[in-house]
Amino acid sequence: MPTPAKLDLTAFPRRQLLDGTTPIQHLPRLSKKLGNVDIFVKRDDVMGLGGGGNKLRKLEFLIGEAQAAGADTIVTVGALQSNHARLTAAAAAKAGLACELVLTRSVPRDDEDFLRNGNVLLDSLLGATVHHIADPADAPAFIQTRIAELRAAGRGVYMAPFGGSSAAGCLGYASCASEIVLQSEEMQIDFDRIVVPNGSGGTQAGLVAGLLAMGRDARLVQSYTVLWPVEKAKTATRGLAQDTLARLSPGRTIADDAVVVVDGQIGEGYGLPTDAMREAVRTVASLEGLLIDPVYGGKAFAGLLKDVREGKFPQAAKLLFVMTGGLPGLFAYRRAF
Ligand SMILES: *Cc1c(COP(=O)(O)O)cnc(C)c1O
Repeated sequence: MPTPAKLDLTAFPRRQLLDGTTPIQHLPRLSKKLGNVDIFVKRDDVMGLGGGGNKLRKLEFLIGEAQAAGADTIVTVGALQSNHARLTAAAAAKAGLACELVLTRSVPRDDEDFLRNGNVLLDSLLGATVHHIADPADAPAFIQTRIAELRAAGRGVYMAPFGGSSAAGCLGYASCASEIVLQSEEMQIDFDRIVVPNGSGGTQAGLVAGLLAMGRDARLVQSYTVLWPVEKAKTATRGLAQDTLARLSPGRTIADDAVVVVDGQIGEGYGLPTDAMREAVRTVASLEGLLIDPVYGGKAFAGLLKDVREGKFPQAAKLLFVMTGGLPGLFAYRRAF
């Protein structure tokens, strides 16, 4: 049975924010150094809006949904140095929507770089209204109150989910899955694994749903959790993948083992540097001139390096690492290096 290489996503409201396909590049110097594997990167950090990153793919469908509902204001929530918050602000600016960000102190740091540089600086330049909440547990109640206030003032409010991860948002990564399938056919390369960081799970969930809808093996995708304990990450990601697949291929269900999440890179907690992350960021930067972020990509790449060194991948495996953006985070983590 021929499988469709391209997904039909035309039924879903979408606000275009990307300029086309993001490149796939080979990393020859790193591959040579590691021996026995070929590392490729999908450059989802190369996008023409707001500094780019994985959240922009989700925001194409979130802003689409917001505008279809007639909203004029988008509200979202994240950690202080959230890339999702920064890109929501950029997408809202581009679409002519007001943007309110609720930022929580999810990482125990209070130095100047962390409080004011990186994404925090960009949020303000992008024109977002920022609300600072000390305890993440207080965020839901604050958001409810704020949304009620905005609605009372006559505003049409759309709440974008944490990390941009709802079934609508995940369609952005189903779209990415179809890009990867087409690119791998053009390049005549069969990737043995697609490797991603797992934060709120939407990147992996969208890829999994997209691959399944195209009749491919979802276990091609392997993530490293950087936020939630591995079982919680797996459950959340599988739930999102199921909801996304329900939109693409109604009635299909996801097997229990379709979502592969690997543990071991969180270290002392979300957003807290590890030695393996530092080594991964420096290695990729100094060998290939590529900048990966300290919170997501750095930890996921550390996991990839560890598994390569431990021989966890097939002989001569072709591994595609998705670069998800987050470069501004490096400026907030100056002291970590
Ligand atoms: C949010 C984010 C991730 C994690 O993506 P999820 O879809 O939330 O799992 C990875 N990398 C960067 C740079 C991010 O900002």
